[in-house]
Amino acid sequence: MQRNDTESRTDIKPRRISPRALVAFCVLTLLAFSGVCASVLLDMRRGEEELARRTMENLVSTIDADISRNIELYDLSLRNVATNFVEPEVKSVSKPLLSLILFDHAATARHFGAIQVFDAGGNLVLDSSTLTPKPENHAGEDYFEVHRNDPDRGLFISRPGLHLGNYSLVLSRRISGKDGSFVGVVVGSLRFSYFHDLFGRLQLQPDDTITVFRRDGVVIMRTPFDLDIVGKSMGEAPGMRRTLDEPSGAASRASAVDGIVRLFVWHRTDHGLVVVAGKSWDTILNLWRREALRIGATMLGLIVLVVGATLFLAREINRRALAEDRLEQLATTDALTQLRNRRKFDTVMSQEWHRAMRQSDPLALLMIDADHFKAFNDMFGHQAGDQVLVRIAATIRGSVRRSADCAARYGGEEFAVLLPGLSVETASLVAEKIRSDVEELSAEKWATTVSIGIAAVVPSTAMSPAHLIEAADKALYEAKSRGRNQSFVAGVGHLSLVA
Ligand code: GH3
Ligand code: MG
Ligand code: MG
Repeated sequence: MQRNDTESRTDIKPRRISPRALVAFCVLTLLAFSGVCASVLLDMRRGEEELARRTMENLVSTIDADISRNIELYDLSLRNVATNFVEPEVKSVSKPLLSLILFDHAATARHFGAIQVFDAGGNLVLDSSTLTPKPENHAGEDYFEVHRNDPDRGLFISRPGLHLGNYSLVLSRRISGKDGSFVGVVVGSLRFSYFHDLFGRLQLQPDDTITVFRRDGVVIMRTPFDLDIVGKSMGEAPGMRRTLDEPSGAASRASAVDGIVRLFVWHRTDHGLVVVAGKSWDTILNLWRREALRIGATMLGLIVLVVGATLFLAREINRRALAEDRLEQLATTDALTQLRNRRKFDTVMSQEWHRAMRQSDPLALLMIDADHFKAFNDMFGHQAGDQVLVRIAATIRGSVRRSADCAARYGGEEFAVLLPGLSVETASLVAEKIRSDVEELSAEKWATTVSIGIAAVVPSTAMSPAHLIEAADKALYEAKSRGRNQSFVAGVGHLSLVA
């Protein structure tokens, strides 16, 4: 019966840590750890973005409230003029009194320009700053056109520009007669200094922008201030449509002015202006990037350290395993013949004996002894004797090929071959092959032969390995006494020989 698993089962080794498993475990652990770190960093990034968005929303709301309040105040004054100018009673009062009736103190506030009234022909008729205004005609101005053509326009905010010697935003309202006819226009202005003052109070980063747009995309004011941009229409710039159309929102896009990618947050005021705050991603993520770099560098360092330590450990485990294997081989191998030594033979014999007993398999044993070896030594020397022993061992190894078989140097010039699963007949064939192969080894000047004792049993609890060895030994003795260079099968009564 052939069995290939015997060798591995007989050499049961203590459990070892596999270097590959160690490296795989380390890689998996590092991957999991890196995953957790990446997720934390992404969360932190989202947190920074959310914080920036909220801060900008608050900023935009504050600016929106300030602008709305000031325009509302000024508009109240304009409305007052537009309403009272057409009252029949005012026609009869003197100009100084008329000024007092029509213009309140709003027209003298810090950032507000003078309020002027133009008649239906565009001629200046009243000016809050003087009782004797110089003749002027504004019939060609955009606000004049707008109010003349559109009675329901309400407050109109013109393109920013020079007005009465100051860069300002011109605010105007139509003056309609009781019958709805066009009577004229009342015009005021909000100076740029108001916006400079308002934006100057904010603590902005170098890349931050605040822009106030008219609904059609005209830039009313921007910080950082640039006179070339103020007054231009940017309604067609990429992404601007959404900003102008939605009452409020946030979006990330490249600025149409300087190309820097920013997070923009916007809010529409009550008077149709849109306040947009922009913060560059570099500024938003500055702190996060530094933190991510620090954590990333620490992680990288740790990974390098752990990988290095793991590889070192894996190499050491490998080296140790190889050394253990080598040591075990040395401890179980005969130095001269490289066959198994007696100690290993005894171990294998015990294991195979019990296995054969469990499985009711036969177990065959050959005891091989060199003939007249003392005489050989005496004649050719001990060194030559050693060489012959090495050759005999090689011959035995050549005839015993199954992984379950165990060929050992039993002692001196004596060898033992354990053949699990073989009947005495099959074992005899193996023995005969060994004997004839050794015989063929003989050189001209010397002859070497071996005698072989063969025994085979199906082990039982009534027997022990010693019985099998004893039987093979006796058979060997018989082979010797029958003239040597032959094999003999044991026939001892108390052994159940397997034929
Ligand atoms: P027999 O045919 O009856 O076995 O005769 P023998 O001379 O072989 O037997 P004996 O037991 O009288 O002698 C064994 C000899 O084997 C004695 C010893 O010199 C020799 N011998 C034992 N071990 C070694 C060894 O490792 N190297 C060498 N060269 N000779 C050895
Ligand atoms: Mg001998
Ligand atoms: Mg001997």
